[in-house]
Amino acid sequence: MAAGLPTHVVAVDELRSLIGRMFAAAGCVTEEAERVARFLVSANLAGHDSHGVIRVPRYIEWLGEGLVFAGKSISVVTETSTHAVVDGNVGLGQTIAMQAVDLGIGKAKAAGMAVIALRNSGHIGRIGDWAERAGDAGLVSIHFVNVAKSEIVAPFGGVDRRFGTNPVCIGIPGEAGKPMLLLDFATSMVAEGKVLVASNGGKPLPAGALIGPDGSLSTDPVTLYGPLESGQRNPGNGTGALRTFGDHKGSGLAFMCEILAGCFTGGGTAGPIVGKRGGITNGMLSFYMDPSHFGSQHFVREARAYADYVKEARPADPGGEVLLPGEPEARTRAIRLRDGIPLQIDTWAAIMRTAATLKVAGPA
Ligand code: NAD
Repeated sequence: MAAGLPTHVVAVDELRSLIGRMFAAAGCVTEEAERVARFLVSANLAGHDSHGVIRVPRYIEWLGEGLVFAGKSISVVTETSTHAVVDGNVGLGQTIAMQAVDLGIGKAKAAGMAVIALRNSGHIGRIGDWAERAGDAGLVSIHFVNVAKSEIVAPFGGVDRRFGTNPVCIGIPGEAGKPMLLLDFATSMVAEGKVLVASNGGKPLPAGALIGPDGSLSTDPVTLYGPLESGQRNPGNGTGALRTFGDHKGSGLAFMCEILAGCFTGGGTAGPIVGKRGGITNGMLSFYMDPSHFGSQHFVREARAYADYVKEARPADPGGEVLLPGEPEARTRAIRLRDGIPLQIDTWAAIMRTAATLKVAGPA
């Protein structure tokens, strides 16, 4: 959330209930509607507002336009005891990814490890949710994700769009009472949602977040969206691109996400986009490992002890501290569970407009 922007704070239960009723009104059975609401709100709880309820209007539009479908399940294309290729049939990602992850968890629990190649899923949101699900089952998990038909990121050294925002995620199960160690980030310098926030007058983008077609670096959302006057924020209208983080290293990770989650799963890469831009699908190649099968009975305890040692590193800035992967999310979750979820005024207004079109009443 951009500091200093006015927000509308909604209690977690109220927000889940509203979003659930909206998806039910949009054609989902109650169980799926509540699931979509639960995972979107979970992203907000973790502080990743770019992958939370801000997505609701777009998801509902996609349902209406037949760019994603309610009531779908994964189809298993091929499987053994340790791997599966599954097709998401462009179902809602919260259902499809959950099924794919649960398949991986079941196989890894039985065999020690499993690889699941998921393709053609509707948007699967915050990848950390899936690593947390595996972590809750005691598993280590690694996920490479791409966004088919959504090229908006330039490779290092280039100006043309070639990648999606391609997240990478690694989850390590936590000891009782301690948060998981959870690394989960987009390989673009900022998620597209952050360009959206900046385009609405929110937190400015960091230097060099965008690149124009002439190679000039930019922080102006127009580079990605084209003229903002229309109110529309469609990357299809811009001529520039997002940049990857970490120069050639982030760009290399983004590239490998396309190869693993796009080519290897069979779900397709970010581009080239032929014809009109529409909804997007995620591919995800996931690895699940059960430490107990690897003779690593003390793994979780040793990982935690090492994490505590890392945290003891002296802060670079006076009063600062070293944070572990997953720590910012755990802290934000504790605060938001207590105080409610602050949403940008524009985000809340867009959700309420969509609710009105569905004839769903907002919170009292
Ligand atoms: P980010 O830049 O906020 O990075 C988050 C990661 O960095 C977390 O692991 C966090 O614990 C860690 N972290 C943050 N601050 C830290 C600090 N000071 N010290 C140590 N570690 C720290 O995340 P992002 O790139 O904006 O991605 C946001 C979300 O978007 C992710 O959950 C990702 O899965 C999701 N995403 C999804 C898709 C999709 O297609 N489904 C695409 C892109 C991104």
